[in-house]
Amino acid sequence: MLDYIVVGLGLSGVAISEELEKRNKKFVVYEDNSQNSSYVAGGIFNPVILKRFTPAWKAAEQIKSAIPFYEQLEQKLHVRLIHNWNIYRRFHSVEERNEWFVAADRSSLSPFLDPDLKKNSNPNLIADHSLGKVLNTGNIDTENLLDSYSAYLKDKGTFKDERFDYSALKIEKDHFDYKGLKTTNIVFCEGYGLKKNPYFDYLPLNGNKGEYITIYSEDLNLDFAVKSSVFLLPLGNNLYKVGATYDHSDKTPETTTKAKERLIGQLKELIKCDFEVVDQVAGIRPAVADRRPLVGEHPEISNLYCCNGFGSRGVLIAPNMAVELIENIENGKPLDLEIDLQRFTQKYYSKN
Ligand SMILES: Cc1cc2nc3c(=O)[nH]c(=O)nc-3n(C[C@H](O)[C@H](O)[C@H](O)COP(=O)(O)OP(=O)(O)OC[C@H]3O[C@@H](n4cnc5c(N)ncnc54)[C@H](O)[C@@H]3O)c2cc1C
Repeated sequence: MLDYIVVGLGLSGVAISEELEKRNKKFVVYEDNSQNSSYVAGGIFNPVILKRFTPAWKAAEQIKSAIPFYEQLEQKLHVRLIHNWNIYRRFHSVEERNEWFVAADRSSLSPFLDPDLKKNSNPNLIADHSLGKVLNTGNIDTENLLDSYSAYLKDKGTFKDERFDYSALKIEKDHFDYKGLKTTNIVFCEGYGLKKNPYFDYLPLNGNKGEYITIYSEDLNLDFAVKSSVFLLPLGNNLYKVGATYDHSDKTPETTTKAKERLIGQLKELIKCDFEVVDQVAGIRPAVADRRPLVGEHPEISNLYCCNGFGSRGVLIAPNMAVELIENIENGKPLDLEIDLQRFTQKYYSKN
């Protein structure tokens, strides 16, 4: 008898698995590679919305527990996951620069926005109005994390490299039976794959497609990340990630020429040296209509849970939501109404 089945091993599935391991729970994880939002993510952790200079939802408190979470994973998996570097926001005008100073003065943002601006000294970077440094930022190597974590689970014999087939699930009186495996709880961490889940497809998960290109440029010589209309992230060896796009209408997993051309256009407004596009990736962000996570229990089926809806900020949100959900299940700690999927119970009953 298992304590849990976890469906999906993106950032959500990793965080849930870690929380279960800490509590010595018996669980297995199913993963079918149908979604790859976590895999292709830039992995950036940045507590500020750099378009408007406003704090991201609860990011200041999330970062305090998320970074130790990834540090502890680095030790456990013997891999480097955290890359600390500075993000510099490029200003488009003097007005925008002034808005930065006003924002940096606010107590919620002062730990993250450096009021001392940096003058651009890179001849190939177009930044005439200086750059503002965002503090306490960096990225998580999500590809390395997911590869190492699935290898770790495989070693333990708790990883099932297969699709979770909803039609094979039998709901018994006090447990679930899935192809002969008995478990007390199931947590679905399927990202945008939730749309195909008949138990949770009533939830308003809209999805938002994002694409990145990787460029090679010998002349750029940039050793910090720049945020303009797109992010430009140095990867080393003259490679840079450029993106990402946001598309609400296209929900296909493939990369598109439209996104590539758009990113190239935005990049040409940011740098003035030659570059070559060497790669392109796409994924669907699990974005929710009200921009809050979807965490909690099914309206009618006890012990069937969902941990989803992290939108474009899974790196900081996932570890925190996993603690909230597992604390709720194991110790009855109430979920914050803002994240609890009970806020959509009405939708469930109108659909069923
Ligand atoms: C281009 C792009 C850039 C991004 N950049 C950043 C960033 O810089 N910083 C940041 O914080 N966030 C970023 N994000 C957002 C972040 O990736 C998401 O918030 C996060 O990955 C969501 O994680 P998840 O585990 O909920 O979903 P997913 O990563 O989609 O994982 C769900 C997993 O479940 C599996 N699955 C689904 N259905 C089944 C089934 N029936 N059986 C078995 N397995 C199943 C899928 O294969 C998948 O592996 C980005 C997203 C994109 C697309």
